[in-house]
Amino acid sequence: MEDRPFSDISYHRFLNEERIMGSKCKKCGVLFLPPRSICVECYGNEMEWVEMSGKGKLVAFTCIAVGPPFMTKEGYDRRHPYCNGVVEFEKGVRVVARIEGIDSSKPENIKIGTPLTATFLHRTEADNLNTYLVFRPLGDP
Ligand SMILES: [Zn+2]
Repeated sequence: MEDRPFSDISYHRFLNEERIMGSKCKKCGVLFLPPRSICVECYGNEMEWVEMSGKGKLVAFTCIAVGPPFMTKEGYDRRHPYCNGVVEFEKGVRVVARIEGIDSSKPENIKIGTPLTATFLHRTEADNLNTYLVFRPLGDP
């Protein structure tokens, strides 16, 4: 399909195109996200691209009241905390990303296992287009 190298650069380029791409070892079938060119399980170096559907579930999260300056700039603070979560895709790989559409001020109401869907947040930083994954509960408008 794609002749891009299995690297972080390719991963981010795909994100800019709103695709979540991992690599899969042709020998043992282990999946890597972000993609790797060499398998850490069997040291195989034959990989193929696998696209994630963007659907996953919440497996862990932290709500952060005092974040880095760019988050403060977006309006998050002690009174408006935000959540970072670990999201597991249906194929078993995990990513860490911001979770929106949940009440971060009441973490006790956030449930592990909540089905989530990925959205793409595009930001231009120092003339580069960077895309971040943000997850929202499935069915959230
Ligand atoms: Zn392998």
